[in-house]
Amino acid sequence: MKGRLHSIETFGAVDGPGIRTVFFMQGCPARCLYCHNPDSWNPGEGRDIDIDEIVHWAVRGIPYYGEKGGVTFSGGEPLLQGEFLIEAINALKKEGIGSAIDASGTYVDEFTDGAVEASDLVLLDIKHTDPERFKIITGREQDTLYKLIDIINKHDRHVWIRNVVVPDINDTEEDMRALNDFIKQIKHIDKVELLGYHTMAVQKYGKLGITYRLKGVPPMDAERLAELKKLIEY
Ligand code: SF4
Repeated sequence: MKGRLHSIETFGAVDGPGIRTVFFMQGCPARCLYCHNPDSWNPGEGRDIDIDEIVHWAVRGIPYYGEKGGVTFSGGEPLLQGEFLIEAINALKKEGIGSAIDASGTYVDEFTDGAVEASDLVLLDIKHTDPERFKIITGREQDTLYKLIDIINKHDRHVWIRNVVVPDINDTEEDMRALNDFIKQIKHIDKVELLGYHTMAVQKYGKLGITYRLKGVPPMDAERLAELKKLIEY
């Protein structure tokens, strides 16, 4: 079976615990306002990758993974290729390598249950707690996020929550309270990360000829972000 790959990062240190090999899978159904990987959107781009190559790259990292590290499938939206993920994660398990899925909450299908069950950890983006703002940010309905949370809870998977904080979109104390309330429905949370919006991807949009819709929005102020982080309870 073949998957569609955007790129591979070896020695990844931010997409899950420990040192990780990160496979950025190609294709995403969402169009987030602040996406820094618009080149990962089109499922027809990127290149093919098979399970053997996934295992080949992942095994090379074994000396560095330690107890916590392993593989992360990110994107794009990796659950767009759920069937491939199930096969890849199970092949990695045979090598003693655990896997995390970095999911946007904008997509689920009939393979999502199996992919989450096979994984050890889900990195879950909460794009917004409010359904209308979720749609404004992602271009997608929020029901997929609830469905994914149900699947995660059903399999007792542990979760790292991620929330990108954007000035004037979700940077108020009320937004943080709403986030605290929202994540109460998730059974096992290991970490909550607030990530400040940045503008580093703007040039990429220019090169791709795609309009950057947050033009003029400043990067998230670091001090303000630190204040908001103090409000997160879990
Ligand atoms: S889900 Fe991720 S890859 Fe897809 S548009 Fe949003 S930020 Fe970009």
